Amino acid sequence: MRHFRVDLHIHTLLSPCGELSMSPAAIVACARAAGLDAIAVCDHNSTLQTPVVRELGRRAGLTVFFGAELTTREEAHLVALLPDRAAAEALQTWIDARIERIPNRPEKLGDQVWVDERERIAGEVAWYLNAPLRCSAEQAAAEVVRLGGLVVPAHVERPANSLIGQLGFLPPGFPAAALEYNHPDRFAALCATYPDLSRYTAYTASDAHFPEQIAAHPSRLTAESCTFGELRRAFAREAGRRIETIHATP
Ligand SMILES: [Zn+2]
Ligand SMILES: [Zn+2]
Repeated sequence: MRHFRVDLHIHTLLSPCGELSMSPAAIVACARAAGLDAIAVCDHNSTLQTPVVRELGRRAGLTVFFGAELTTREEAHLVALLPDRAAAEALQTWIDARIERIPNRPEKLGDQVWVDERERIAGEVAWYLNAPLRCSAEQAAAEVVRLGGLVVPAHVERPANSLIGQLGFLPPGFPAAALEYNHPDRFAALCATYPDLSRYTAYTASDAHFPEQIAAHPSRLTAESCTFGELRRAFAREAGRRIETIHATP
């Protein structure tokens, strides 16, 4: 079994709230400089920028998982981690059929461009990417599971835009493969209020929107290899595999 340092929630410049400095090359360079072995690209309601990050990551020895951060009708954020490019493209088609097409206003809401390997603009999304999808959290989760992906309620300890913050509870039977949080103390307080949460696999991620946020809250994956299949097994805590927060030493 080996240990891998991972950050499974990173935005690129494509996200309206992501800084333009979050280019694929900058993300890969920052992730490697921070000692990460793997990241997941989770732009708001989009998977478009991931293939370029993945290719640059491959050259630099950084594993890049496909992902997205879905905004549901309840304004809850769900991280979807996906097994491969085909699943990411299928999820993109599903998103495109459901997103509220509110015209983006870059000057107010932020730029939504994506770039090629040489940081040339490859395209721009015309509608606001953080708009809610016309589906419930349960419907979004079911689609991710159908595509072979993993559903992780994002930043669960935050009052706004988290599944628990928006609904007041974790829906019974919700297929959460794990829970993501940013701040250990606030997550501990949430678990004190909702003791059932303690039975879930839980880990931190940075939810980085700026380069200096990458690896702010890294986690450790213990698995045989840094692959999606092993990630799934680690979430399920199979045969000694696990994922856990790396706590900063005081
Ligand atoms: Zn979020
Ligand atoms: Zn996010």
